[in-house]
Amino acid sequence: MSDKIQVDLLIVGAGPAGLMAAAWMAQTGVKTLLIDEQSDHRTNGRADGLESRTLEILDSFGLADKVWAEANHTVEICLWCDSVDGPIRRDSIAPNSKAGWSRFYESTLGQGRIEDIVLELVQSRDNIDIRRETKPTSLDIDYSCIEDHSTYPIRMALDTPLRTSYESPHDSGISTPSTSSDDGMQPHNSDLRHGRSGTEVEAKYVLGCDGAHSWLRKQLGLKLEGQSFDHYWGVLDIVPITNFPDIRKRFIVKSKFGNLMMIPREGQLVRVYVQLPLTMADQYNMEKDPGIILRQVEAIMKPYSLKAKNTIWSTVYRVGQRICPKISHHNRIFLAGDACHTHSPKAGQGMNVSMQDTYNLGWKLASVIQGSLTPNILDTYQQERLPVAERLLQFDRRICHAMCSTRDLQSSLQGTFGEDHRRALEEENSSASGLAVSYSPNLLVTSTICNTDGPYEISYFSKQYLAENIRVGTRIPSKLVLQQIDSQSCHLHELFRSTGQWNLIIFGGDIVNKSQMARVRNLADSLSCKESYFHRFKTAREMKGDIEPIVVYLLHSACRNSIDFFDLPEIFRPESKYGGINFGRALVDNEFYHQPGGGELYKSFGIHPEGCMVLLRPDQHISFISELEDFNGLEMFLSSFTQLDC
Ligand code: FAD
Repeated sequence: MSDKIQVDLLIVGAGPAGLMAAAWMAQTGVKTLLIDEQSDHRTNGRADGLESRTLEILDSFGLADKVWAEANHTVEICLWCDSVDGPIRRDSIAPNSKAGWSRFYESTLGQGRIEDIVLELVQSRDNIDIRRETKPTSLDIDYSCIEDHSTYPIRMALDTPLRTSYESPHDSGISTPSTSSDDGMQPHNSDLRHGRSGTEVEAKYVLGCDGAHSWLRKQLGLKLEGQSFDHYWGVLDIVPITNFPDIRKRFIVKSKFGNLMMIPREGQLVRVYVQLPLTMADQYNMEKDPGIILRQVEAIMKPYSLKAKNTIWSTVYRVGQRICPKISHHNRIFLAGDACHTHSPKAGQGMNVSMQDTYNLGWKLASVIQGSLTPNILDTYQQERLPVAERLLQFDRRICHAMCSTRDLQSSLQGTFGEDHRRALEEENSSASGLAVSYSPNLLVTSTICNTDGPYEISYFSKQYLAENIRVGTRIPSKLVLQQIDSQSCHLHELFRSTGQWNLIIFGGDIVNKSQMARVRNLADSLSCKESYFHRFKTAREMKGDIEPIVVYLLHSACRNSIDFFDLPEIFRPESKYGGINFGRALVDNEFYHQPGGGELYKSFGIHPEGCMVLLRPDQHISFISELEDFNGLEMFLSSFTQLDC
């Protein structure tokens, strides 16, 4: 006999992808069941590289401070290769990432610790039920009601009962259909002793974050497509004893004995990746002796010495790149992370892209479940993330090609770095890291062209020339801004927390100029007009007890001291939930007394002197840019994917 429960979202797998999805649900209050077959997550091994965009995302959940404080920051990268007369020599030393792309730069911290930090947030909320040592045993989908998003068409059997004896019962917010026990109440542990063997879950949505061997992917009849290559790499996490001068920098050695890469980590640890001949890889796989990998490292590093005082973790992997061509099943079941793309770890992207997948999906699912957005926006998950996975694999191919050959194609010398390898290393921490991901026009990203070809003229579109350097579809960059009221500074990104809220920034320009101020006032009046769709959508959601669905900011460029906060339209000085006025909605791009970096935003973003409005999605990607007069365009865009009365 099985227990039965109903959940809005079932997440299979509590690795980085599953936990990031759960973090969104924790923030938005969606009833979620998170299961994992392991009793606990592994403390050592696997990923350790956090890219800047992932740090920005963690920061939007309030988690980056902890990660940043514990992590090692990878500031420099050195390339080493054979010298003409034999021993390896340093070829170059450079910054590991380009300045100015992000407030954060690449850092390393063990995956287990990163998972711990996200898990703390997830566990702090009652609406997420986490069950370990639990896996699914069957999947049934009721296709007859799959288009009706108020139904629970997915039935999944789990191999553990609803309450296990080591869990203290608490109100998880997960409902039990009345058939589950006679009185419709949560079953007691006594039920378990009386033969209850598993759980039947009815879910509205299921998310497969169950890694490279995904059970869920196989149930859907989907395959990872791609290939493996005859390249083998050994991986070690060690505390090194060495006289190598760059041991606390990231470095790559290309030599006639093979190639390696080392990345300094938190504490005294260093992550080593070293190319292995097949015989050594086979030997390691039989004996599991890290000494086999270390001997290859020692040979490449000569004349420097390198011993391991402490080996925390070791493994050998074969290079392969695979992708699943479909990551959404009827917008009800989704795959994310390693479940739909796998590649070599050398580009340091796997955990990052996995978390970024569910960062993209989480708020969309929450908004559909809570009824504020139409279910067809879920199409955008596959539209946006599949191309990212494809580009990731192409990028990984470039990195692997460069790292696996000792001979550069353009050079007769062994152990040298080609131009493409250098360029790929630069891109790794900028464009490839997620910072430059740009989503193409879709339901949630406006086109920049007015389309008059189709049966309907699309009457809203973005005017990119109004903010030339921030592209529609990309994440907005961050710059220092000041509060109008008191000149306190903050980074733009600190305002856009991951709560599910949209943000509308009114770049008012020089509002000392009367006509410019009049344009801002007109827009503010339209936004506040009770009959407008914008206002009705906002109030409808607020009446349902949701957080403010769209937050409106003024960010002007006039001299701060020439503007009186209380002369600004009311929409920029709304009531605070703590009583009194919320002073944080009126901002200015002026120099800051105490720190350089203020007063650069308009120039850096390329904001037109006439100003503009910029609408940001809850994941900080830009979905709409238009002139201050285009309130109709904004309303039409919003009404194409939001709902008032659900
Ligand atoms: P996983 O981490 O695999 O998590 C899947 C979860 O699902 C697990 O907890 C598992 O127990 C659970 N599960 C599986 N099947 C079931 C089931 N049937 N039922 C219930 N639960 C199930 N990435 C980087 O970004 N940077 C790096 O520097 C980096 N280095 C790496 C080094 C190595 C040596 C390796 C092996 C990987 C590295 N990666 C790196 C990749 C990274 O570890 C993965 O991409 C990442 O863990 C994928 O996250 P995920 O949540 O998709 O899957």
